[in-house]
Amino acid sequence: MQTIDNFNFAGKKAFVRVDFNVPLDENFNITDDTRIRAAMPTLKKILADGGSVIIASHMGRPKKNPDAKYSLQYILKHVEKLLGVPVKFAADCAKASDMAASLKNGEALLLENLRFYAEEEGKARGLAEDATDEEKATAKKAIKESQKEFTKTLASYADCYVNDAFGTAHRAHASTALIAKHFDENNKMFGYLMEKEVLAVQKILSDIERPFTAIMGGSKVSSKIEIIENLLGKVDNLILAGGMTYTFSKAMGGNIGISICESDKLDLALELIEKAKKNNVNLVLAVDAKIGDDFSNDCNTQFVSVKEIPDGWEGLDIGPETEKIFAEVIKNSKTILWNGPTGVFEFENFTSGSKAVANAIVEATKKGAFSLVGGGDSVACINKFGLADQVSYVSTGGGALLEAIEGKVLPGIEAIRGF
Ligand code: AMP
Repeated sequence: MQTIDNFNFAGKKAFVRVDFNVPLDENFNITDDTRIRAAMPTLKKILADGGSVIIASHMGRPKKNPDAKYSLQYILKHVEKLLGVPVKFAADCAKASDMAASLKNGEALLLENLRFYAEEEGKARGLAEDATDEEKATAKKAIKESQKEFTKTLASYADCYVNDAFGTAHRAHASTALIAKHFDENNKMFGYLMEKEVLAVQKILSDIERPFTAIMGGSKVSSKIEIIENLLGKVDNLILAGGMTYTFSKAMGGNIGISICESDKLDLALELIEKAKKNNVNLVLAVDAKIGDDFSNDCNTQFVSVKEIPDGWEGLDIGPETEKIFAEVIKNSKTILWNGPTGVFEFENFTSGSKAVANAIVEATKKGAFSLVGGGDSVACINKFGLADQVSYVSTGGGALLEAIEGKVLPGIEAIRGF
């Protein structure tokens, strides 16, 4: 397989798919540039070799072309600053042939938001709500056809294709997967970020040192069923925390007050408990909770058993007893995956559980464990605690990471690897 390190970009134009989908404030200032920084090693390597880059990304979920509030123009200056060279801007990503053709070695061009074109995702836009099945089918066929042209146009800008957008690797979009078909195997490759992400996933999937512990937090069971079921076939310990706690507690007959709960998932919770037993997985659930009488940072709080939450109160984080239990399991692990906070970490008064988990992961990592933190909110957590550089790997992928760990083949990876 071609790698970025053994490819000489001198005199070549590279189409680099990055994930510059960064958060902006109301004045269009970047509030977190992690994703832009993450792509810099790849872009700089190409320029240093004497190649030129055509940088392509999506931003947000625009519904039309153009949609000013999702313009990549807002990040142009920052990309220039980080890259250290002037960056040209193509205001229409599908009409950039001339700009791409005139790029000289060492130069960079940023394309406008790919999702300004429905063809990027290949989903028809603007269909009437009452469209008939036939109309939907016609629209679907039309967009798939025009997607081919769009993809061909993007591919025509460059001599080689580099995918460094792990965050969108689980989508079979024009620029993340389909475009790869236009380049032969020697001229398409992962960027450095993608390489690191793929390696990290591999370590969790196949190269496991045991005990393997997964900590799954966040708000809902429903969004994590597949990954939880899949992990039950892989891990030694599965720690379930966050809002899910209360669905499990209620399923087991506990009183959960007004805690977040998915009443239609109670049976599923019991099934997962059974499955864990059958698979000899140590399922670790919270025993106590820090509860509040309002969903706010300044509410009244108390610590109670997860089974005895009074009416009118809700569980907003794990309690001190649970922190100890979780930390003990984590510290004795050799492979660790963390996805999702143990509580409402956005409220300062309910960060303690997530902090205890983060600290235990850091401690295990110091003792030689491999720790992977991924999925939006746990990344925000580990950054908030200033511990990101003390775990083995922090993934930039949310959905992509979870799908990869579920064992799904990611189109963006398959397109390069060819399997
Ligand atoms: P997810 O996107 O599913 O990983 O969920 C992350 C969100 O879950 C964060 O915004 C947390 O505030 C929220 N969360 C965690 N624990 C709780 C809880 N006990 N009650 C309500 N929300 C929670």
